[in-house]
Amino acid sequence: MRQKLLEIFERLLRNYGPRHWWPAQGPFEVIVGAILTQNTAWTNVEKAIGNLQAVGALSPRVLAGLPAAELERLVQPSGYFRQKARRLQSFARNLLERHDGSLERLFAGSLTEVRGELLALHGIGPETADSILLYAAHFPTFVIDAYTMRIFSRLGIVDDRQKYEEVRHLFLSHLPPDAPLFNEYHALIVEHGKTCCRKREPFCGACILSDICLLYSRRPQ
Ligand code: SF4
Repeated sequence: MRQKLLEIFERLLRNYGPRHWWPAQGPFEVIVGAILTQNTAWTNVEKAIGNLQAVGALSPRVLAGLPAAELERLVQPSGYFRQKARRLQSFARNLLERHDGSLERLFAGSLTEVRGELLALHGIGPETADSILLYAAHFPTFVIDAYTMRIFSRLGIVDDRQKYEEVRHLFLSHLPPDAPLFNEYHALIVEHGKTCCRKREPFCGACILSDICLLYSRRPQ
């Protein structure tokens, strides 16, 4: 399995090149983006981040102190704006109360400790927590998202009924604990899922994984 996962990574990297993720300036912006990107396209997140940037709200202290209605207005382009405004403030207030607003202090614990703290916060599920841990804190954890499930179930490596933690464990247990590898691998999965292995009508004929793909091998001749 290790060989297979590494081979898929190498092929994706050769085909798409390094993705230079995460598209953000600094770890706090990564975290804001990870919360805002839930159930929406990145272009909408960029608009919301632009609004926050324009009023100097990309800092835990400013963000935590904004009136709820004002924050909702600023993040409205990202959709589900009431929920997301609450989630952002929950994160920022926890950071201020428990770590004096310092991400360095939050990230000083072990991967398990920090992950547990993030998962206990309002509206932070495993995918958001792992995105924060990997892209803001550079912990070696794997992000499992809809693209990962789609591609790896089509390849025959996971079952799409498997739970998040099982699939995450599959990657973590077979690959070296290497944050830059996991960073690039997840970014490449997203690229492949968006451009080739699309939800409907994937471009299998042009896919660099077609010779090892279970779904493709079962296609009608
Ligand atoms: S061959 Fe088709 S289904 Fe399989 S990974 Fe490639 S695009 Fe996806």
